[in-house]
Amino acid sequence: MKRKSIAVSVGRLVIGGGNPVVIQSMTDTDTSDVENTLKQVKELINAGSEMVRITVNTEPAAKSVPDIIKKLRDKGFETPIIGDFHFNGTYLLKNFPEMAELIDKYRINPGTTGKIEYFDEFIKIAIDNDKPIRIGVNWGSVERNILNKKIEENSKRKKPRGIKEVMVEAIVESVIYYAERAKNLGLSENKIIVSAKVSEVPELVKVYRELAEKTPYPLHLGLTEAGSSIKGIVSSAIGIGSLLLQGIGDTIRVSVTPRPGESRTREVEIAKEILQSLNLRRFHPEVISCPGCGRTNSDLFKKIAERIKKYLKERQKEWEEIYPDFKNLKIAVMGCVVNGPGESKFANIGLCLPGIGEEKSAIYVNGEFKRTVKIEEAEEELKREIEDYLIG
Ligand code: SF4
Repeated sequence: MKRKSIAVSVGRLVIGGGNPVVIQSMTDTDTSDVENTLKQVKELINAGSEMVRITVNTEPAAKSVPDIIKKLRDKGFETPIIGDFHFNGTYLLKNFPEMAELIDKYRINPGTTGKIEYFDEFIKIAIDNDKPIRIGVNWGSVERNILNKKIEENSKRKKPRGIKEVMVEAIVESVIYYAERAKNLGLSENKIIVSAKVSEVPELVKVYRELAEKTPYPLHLGLTEAGSSIKGIVSSAIGIGSLLLQGIGDTIRVSVTPRPGESRTREVEIAKEILQSLNLRRFHPEVISCPGCGRTNSDLFKKIAERIKKYLKERQKEWEEIYPDFKNLKIAVMGCVVNGPGESKFANIGLCLPGIGEEKSAIYVNGEFKRTVKIEEAEEELKREIEDYLIG
């Protein structure tokens, strides 16, 4: 069952309060470069990011933010823009009031504000501008007094626990401490989102389970330094996915390191796949295929599966307007007609290609055999079947 957190409005979106999990992403451009930042923000939005965070780390960056946001809004993009602040965040918010007013949410890592007075001032600026904040603590920014106390308590135990366990407790307490501090300064509860990112999956799950129990705030999920390639994807999917399965998490960001030259939008695609595979959100039709085995006699089924994915992607905009169920479509392309029909029975349309010793391909609709098709016509027949299915 989904944990019901306090609902927090961020621009036109509502995070938490039982609302669908929201996808966010972050740019890696120099924010003072308006054109490049704007271009990347638009790419992320077009890929499906529902909130975009930009770095606000210097005076030129702070000065560029109003320009970026106004240009976005002029082009009809209403996506909330989040400002990522660290060491000089309080200074920048204070000295660039238009930026403070236009940004939809402030992200602060309290461990990097320097003196606690700067944190307090940051919160007061959020109150004055009526903005929600995310308090994001991570391994490296645990509140020092809390950490020292935890380490000391641990050293006095008969059997001291490992440092990771101590850190988990210290991170959770730090988040609670800063959230309570913000509340005591006058920030409403419905302006607070929290996160506590760590780089290892078991600790991530422990930290968020604790936070889910001990705080009422919406939780922003993500691993920090997830890594690149398969490792980053797997860690993010397991960490974020296992929490979401427990009903924990209101907004997610997949922080994978892009490969050199790779589009930043990959993190959004991964986030969408995580939510879709958990049946929490639906973004596009699904094309499944079998892994292939000793029964498979060619890789045609793999090629058809890839081409059908592309075919559906290219038609998505046009077809989802005409067919409301388009996104829910599930297509299977399998490598043999012995096991293919059974393995694809939950698909709306299944194409089973002939395996070794088999001659014809067969099409199944909602798990029922419909007709045989010639192997050389299989792909076109599958497309025809998809269109017929959608027309109904
Ligand atoms: S559907 Fe057929 S070819 Fe594909 S993995 Fe299963 S048995 Fe092998």
